[in-house]
Amino acid sequence: MEIKLAKFIASNQDVFKCPDINIPEYAFIGRSNVGKSSLINMITNKKKLAKISGQPGKTKLINHFLMDNKWFLVDLPGYGYAKASKQAKNLFKKHIKSYFTHRKQLVCAFVLIDIRHDPLKIDIEFMEWLTRTQNAFNIIFTKSDKLNVNEIEKKIKNYKKVFGEKWERFPEYFITSSKKSIGKENLLTYINLINESVIK
Ligand code: GDP
Repeated sequence: MEIKLAKFIASNQDVFKCPDINIPEYAFIGRSNVGKSSLINMITNKKKLAKISGQPGKTKLINHFLMDNKWFLVDLPGYGYAKASKQAKNLFKKHIKSYFTHRKQLVCAFVLIDIRHDPLKIDIEFMEWLTRTQNAFNIIFTKSDKLNVNEIEKKIKNYKKVFGEKWERFPEYFITSSKKSIGKENLLTYINLINESVIK
């Protein structure tokens, strides 16, 4: 499965100024430096669609990309950048919370997590917040090339254990590596399946 046409449409801070087009939308979000820009570039086959950040925490806006004239991929700012100012952190919270609260086209979020880490408080808290606010989410594990198969299995097992203590079921998850181009097919097939069920 390939994306044939990936187009940048708009950057907004205010959810109410985001494109007024009623097509399914998928939000990509995670900690700064998790590999979000690289992943977006990988799945769209474009080297520079999303900027690969020299400086973590750089993407500050709600970025809409139109995929094959069918669905929106939304690149949201990275959270948890230690060096960001308090003002920047508050602004992030305000706009992102507003986005998740008001964006009607949103089908689900993909929360990106670096596979090398054990569950981090900031990610768990964010997913708890998504659950509380009734936002569906799935997990994309990034940078899988940095671990071997056994290590990956161990990390997933650990995640499932932590999730089991808080959630009824483990979300849909995808193991990816932008460096080795792994996981694209599964992810796009999944999005395509949802699109087929929501686009009438
Ligand atoms: P963002 O801040 O979440 O958009 O992250 P970037 O895409 O800018 O990536 C952050 C850093 O991680 C960069 O140095 C990338 O080269 C590196 N990176 C991203 N994806 C991968 C991956 O799949 N494997 C490896 N080994 N490194 C990656």
